[in-house]
Order: sequence, then C-alpha cells, then structure tokens
Amino acid sequence: VSGGNTMREFKKSSKLDNVLYDVRGPVVEEANRMESAGTHVLKLNIGNPAPFGFRTPDEVIYDMRQQLTESEGYSDAKGLFSARKAIMQYAQLKNIPNVSIDDIYTGNGVSELINLCMSALLDDGDEILIPSPDYPLWTACATLAGGKAVHYICDEQSEWYPDIEDIKKKVNDRTKAIVIINPNNPTGALYPREVLQQIVEVAREHQLIIFSDEIYDRLVMDGEEHVSIASLAPDLFCVTFSGLSKSHMIAGFRIGWMVLSGNKRHVKDYIEGLNMLSNMRLCSNVPAQSIVQTALGGHQSVKDYIVPGGRIYEQRECIYNALTDIPGITAVKPKAAFYIFPKLDVKRFNITNDEQFALDLLREKKILIIHGGGFNWKQPDHFRVVYLPRVGVLEQAAHKIGDFLSTYRQ
Ligand code: PLP
Repeated sequence: VSGGNTMREFKKSSKLDNVLYDVRGPVVEEANRMESAGTHVLKLNIGNPAPFGFRTPDEVIYDMRQQLTESEGYSDAKGLFSARKAIMQYAQLKNIPNVSIDDIYTGNGVSELINLCMSALLDDGDEILIPSPDYPLWTACATLAGGKAVHYICDEQSEWYPDIEDIKKKVNDRTKAIVIINPNNPTGALYPREVLQQIVEVAREHQLIIFSDEIYDRLVMDGEEHVSIASLAPDLFCVTFSGLSKSHMIAGFRIGWMVLSGNKRHVKDYIEGLNMLSNMRLCSNVPAQSIVQTALGGHQSVKDYIVPGGRIYEQRECIYNALTDIPGITAVKPKAAFYIFPKLDVKRFNITNDEQFALDLLREKKILIIHGGGFNWKQPDHFRVVYLPRVGVLEQAAHKIGDFLSTYRQ
C-alpha cells in the first residue's frame, strides 16, 4: 500500500493462458531450487551439448574471432549474404526445390523463426496440425499467435511415425498448415521417404503449408539418410528449418535458419507478413551468422559422434539397453538426435500423473527428466531422457531410475 492506495497488480497477458513450455517448467524450477540449496542434480532435461563436453570445431571459433570486428553492425534483416549463400547451397544438396537467396532467413536460433512463422500465419481460431509428442515450442507459438494447435498422433507401435489416418481425421476447413519434426524431438524417430510422401499427399489434397523442423538432420545414425520433405513437394509451399545449435554444438551462439521452397504463388501475402516480422526484429545475431559458411562448408565433426565408437552413438546404445532392461520400461530405439522417449507401465507403478512421477524421481534420486506431458503427450506414460552425458553417467542414471521404480507406486 502506498499513499493509501492499493498497489495496482500486474498480471501476465491472457494470451499466455494456454501456453505451455515445461522443458523449462515447474519440475525444472524445483531442480534449480535443489541445486541452489547445494544438491547436485543430474540434468537429463535439455538438449544443450556444450555443457556435456561437446566442443564446436576449432575453425568455427577461429572464424568468429576473425570476423568479430566486422560483425558489429546490423546485417540485412534476413542475414548476411555469405551465410544465406551457404544455406542455399545446403538446401540444394538436400534437393529442396525453387530456393533463391531471398527465400532464406537467418534467426536467433530456429526458435525465433518458429515464433515468427506462427505469428505471421495464424488468426484466432485457425488450426495447425502439430505432432504429439512434439517439441513444445511449436504448440506454444501457435497458441500464443491465437491459433489452435491440433495434435496428431505419432505412433509408438510404428517407430513413432506420424499416424496418417489420424492426420486425415483432424484436417478440416480451418486447417492452414501441418508441422513435422524430422528427425524428431522427443522420440528420436527418422521418417522414411514413404511416410513423408503420404504427408505430402494429405497436404496437397487440403492445400496445407508444410513446416518441417529439421534441426537434427545431421545427427542421423545407422547409415540412414535424412530426406527433407520439401524435396518431395515442389508444388506445395514448404518452410524448412535447421541451424547450428545441435550439429555444431553451439546452441549458445543462437543461429538457425529457414528456407522457403516450392510453390510460392499463393503465399505472397504470407511472405509479406514474414518479411515484416523479420524486418521488425532488425536481424539475427551477426557474429553467429558470420560462421555459417565455414560451419557448413568444412569437415563435419558431428559425423564422428554418430558412428560406432562415437560418443552420441555409444551413448544411445547405452541408454537404450540400460533403460529397456528395467522392468516396466519399454522404448523404441532412437535413430537420430540425442533423445529417447521411453514408456512406463502405468498399471505396474499405478502412475496417473507424469509430472508427479518426474518430481518424485527428482526428489528421491536427484535426476531431472521431463514428463511426456511437457511434449503435449496426453497419457501419463512417457518421459524424455537427453542422452548427452557420457556412458558412465548414463549407466548410473539408468541404475538409479531402475532402483527408484523397483519400489515406486503412485
Ligand atoms: N526445434 C527442435 C525440434 C528442437 O529440439 C530445438 C531445441 O532443442 C529447437 C527447434 C530450437 O533450436 P534453436 O537452438 O535453433 O533455437
């Protein structure tokens, strides 16, 4: 109370009422509280390679140092020519059709561009198909923009591929677009060409924009090939997202991009909207843009991590085997990225609330995972583990999870 008046209270905007972003939500806050009280917490919750000892190639750092003094000013809103040219060539290598330098936008991570694309597209009540489980930023940005995120199921019984019948059931006159995340976070799935083709057919029939988040496209294991869905849809409008956060272990530098491709005749107005929002943020971080050419052009050190003997490959083998050895846990073996999304036998553990499960595990074993609900997964039967820590740490974590579950009943 000041001067006899009651202080005015400030509430967050109602636009945020239905926005969920649990990758940094309440369970993580509890972990932070525990850490500030001096407890060591093993954090398996966020896909940030650097703290786990993954280093960016030296030439990338060297390059940024060299260019720092020339990177002081704003760049063109879409980005430096050198960066966009390198991204254009990368898009060509992935057979993404009809891409010119004007179709490439750099962003402060893919995150900024997801937000931008959703804001420019969605009016109140417009629908967009988003996978469940998803990387929750997609649902959050669509919701914040006023759109309605309609979740289609990815089917664990079929390697976590999108359920095409479910997609067909959920398309209607208000559906503007479909989002795919390939390779997938949180499941680690990699979609084969035939599945992508089926998605393209649905998009073609209902004239949907395709948004494809491909930030893990260079982290594919088992000799598999990543196919960009845009390469299969020259007659549709596609937006493909990627960046250097994961492939070059520089999530902190904040550099990602999007590539507009295919048929652009019917999306002129939308592109005007994208340009306006892109101009409004002036440009993305210029020092980070300055290394794109070097990063995409040189030796791809990430390849050493994803083959037998490499850290990500071996850590995947370790976490998959260790978790699936635990009675009451099953999992689809991930093919890409560095996440696994195991299933809990909810009857056995009597689990009805997956967030509570995550909190109980955190408090008892000091291990932080994110519950499936954080990825817009509607049943309380999944959780995500980030397998970036070294094999010894992962073994220990799995052992503790097994120990915890051996007596756990909710
Ligand atoms: N898309 C997916 C599927 C992700 O997993 C992430 C980060 O974890 C992002 C986008 C955001 O990446 P960026 O660092 O480029 O903003």
